[in-house]
Amino acid sequence: MATVAHVAAGLVIGRVHASTTRSPLLGSLLLLPVLAVLPDLDVFVGRVLVAAAPALAHRGATHSLGAAVIVGMLVWLVLPRGGRHFPPLETAVAAAIACASNGLLDLLSAGGESVAVFWPILDARFFGTWRPIPDAPFESLLATAHGFRCLTLETAGCLPVIVWALSKRSSRGVESLALFFAKWWSQSRLRQSRD
Ligand SMILES: [Zn+2]
Repeated sequence: MATVAHVAAGLVIGRVHASTTRSPLLGSLLLLPVLAVLPDLDVFVGRVLVAAAPALAHRGATHSLGAAVIVGMLVWLVLPRGGRHFPPLETAVAAAIACASNGLLDLLSAGGESVAVFWPILDARFFGTWRPIPDAPFESLLATAHGFRCLTLETAGCLPVIVWALSKRSSRGVESLALFFAKWWSQSRLRQSRD
């Protein structure tokens, strides 16, 4: 899938983190989306290291719940104690959830590699039984009509939550917009499956 869904998940987690911990909204909206996208660095790093460490192939170790726990622990270790913002425990939990969201969303993608979600306990890779998120290889995202359509569908599906995460407060306007795009997205998916 394109990165839009991962960024959207990070923005939602960032919004919730900021409101529950009273941390600066901008900081949360920058930190959590970065951590939500972080596992996908294996697209580049994994290609170089896959011969030496097969677990680093795309959607491998970096997409596991184990890796998310490690990221959460690292965040907990580096955050200063006793500060007014970004309390270590709550921020570590948010960081782990953001990191885990990447692999969990990839489980729902209609294509690409399956996910080593339980690494290192299990090397086996999995896909969800319900996979509604359209998927196009990174290389074809904008280069082909199929790639562009997948990117458009993913963006449209994520737009309501992005708008919610970035809005000052939830409002009737945002809810109407969410409903509109949800309908448009489901109709587009229906048309795509008929093609
Ligand atoms: Zn991924």
